[in-house]
Amino acid sequence: MGSHNKKNEVLRWIESNQEQLVELLRSMVKSRPVNGALSETENEKEVQKIVGQVIQDMGLCVNSVPVDLSQLEAYRGMPGFVTGYTDQIDFTERENVYTRIEGNNTGEKRSLMLVGHADVVPVENPEKWDYPPFEGQEAKGFLYGRGTVDMLGGIAGMLIAMKAIQENHVKLKGDIWFGSIVGEETGGTGMLAFSEFLRKEGIFADAAIMGEPTNLQLSLLCRGILWVDVEVYGKTGHLEVTQPHWSQGGVVSAIEKAFHLADAIEELNKDWESRPDKNHELLRLPCQAKLSKIQGGHHHSSYPDRCVLSYNLQVLPHETDENGLGTVTKREFEEYIAKVAASDPWMREHPPKVTWILEANCGEVPREHPFVDAFMRTAKEITPEITLTGSEFHTDNEWPQKLAGIPTVNFGPGNPALAHNDNERCSIWQLVEYTKIIACQCMDWCGYEEE
Ligand SMILES: [Zn+2]
Repeated sequence: MGSHNKKNEVLRWIESNQEQLVELLRSMVKSRPVNGALSETENEKEVQKIVGQVIQDMGLCVNSVPVDLSQLEAYRGMPGFVTGYTDQIDFTERENVYTRIEGNNTGEKRSLMLVGHADVVPVENPEKWDYPPFEGQEAKGFLYGRGTVDMLGGIAGMLIAMKAIQENHVKLKGDIWFGSIVGEETGGTGMLAFSEFLRKEGIFADAAIMGEPTNLQLSLLCRGILWVDVEVYGKTGHLEVTQPHWSQGGVVSAIEKAFHLADAIEELNKDWESRPDKNHELLRLPCQAKLSKIQGGHHHSSYPDRCVLSYNLQVLPHETDENGLGTVTKREFEEYIAKVAASDPWMREHPPKVTWILEANCGEVPREHPFVDAFMRTAKEITPEITLTGSEFHTDNEWPQKLAGIPTVNFGPGNPALAHNDNERCSIWQLVEYTKIIACQCMDWCGYEEE
């Protein structure tokens, strides 16, 4: 202890192997690991092969676990297994990959899990990118490419950190577990399957780091997400002619009614902005009902008789029920819509229909958990400006906690605002810092022999 010789060796190794880290991330981007449910031609198979090869080259065992929906029936209706949605997804050739670096289990030891998703979202506008989205081009201190931020950068950093530990013959006391997970971008089914596997096998770690992008801050929570469609009705008819009142058989514009409803929902949002249960001290944004899509109407000369408003509602961990579901938020939203509808004569008789489409869960590690202080102590030795934060978006961090009892934080390189974006790019400086911090977390949390 004290001299940190072994740690310095590991850190120096990472610095002199930067190119290997960048090359690994580039090869992962080039494998085009678009979530298999979001692409006709691509899936996570190739990227998992790359991950497996790196694991094998370290002299570790490469294990695969398929995502088998028939094994997950107990979780039907919960986040990760949405009836009518998840059952349509094909998980053939899309397997989770995991491995373990075994500690020597002497003295005081703790185990750590490094985990993240290997799938990425499709590229919508390749022509808007400054560099091809699946080439992994380096420019201006960044590596450009789909997934560099969300979250192949995190996986690459974790793998190279593990490699640094292996290559430098670090004698860890506790175990390191690593998992590369499929199917996050369509609701987290891969993580549900992996967590269920951990539960069944009795695999446990004292803490886990999920490598979702946090701009190199430590995120203690993520928000859950609810997708909902609100279908608003009208009565169609010729748009250019005089119409009687609807009670006399006249028309009603579903779009006008939908706008009225959308305005009312903005009032609800104003209330949520300052409400304590819709805010969290580690997050800047309050939970809101955000309008993401409008569909409605027939053509230029008819009144629209149907308009669908699609909303995204965010949920905080303290708002969820015992199954991790946003039941309370759903009820409040439904009741609010019913109230607005009741104040409008047409909508009172023709109430809008609310259909919940998808639910993604949220998780939180309490500030007082010993891993938080331990993490910050180690991380600040490398990057003093690290602070605590929360993730505004959904990540998979609840299932490992819930099913396997593993408290899971998020910590990853890259600016989350660039995730899913044109010109997604990860700072190479952050990538290297990240790898160093992960390697040091493994050593400090699990314990190691200075020899
Ligand atoms: Zn992600």
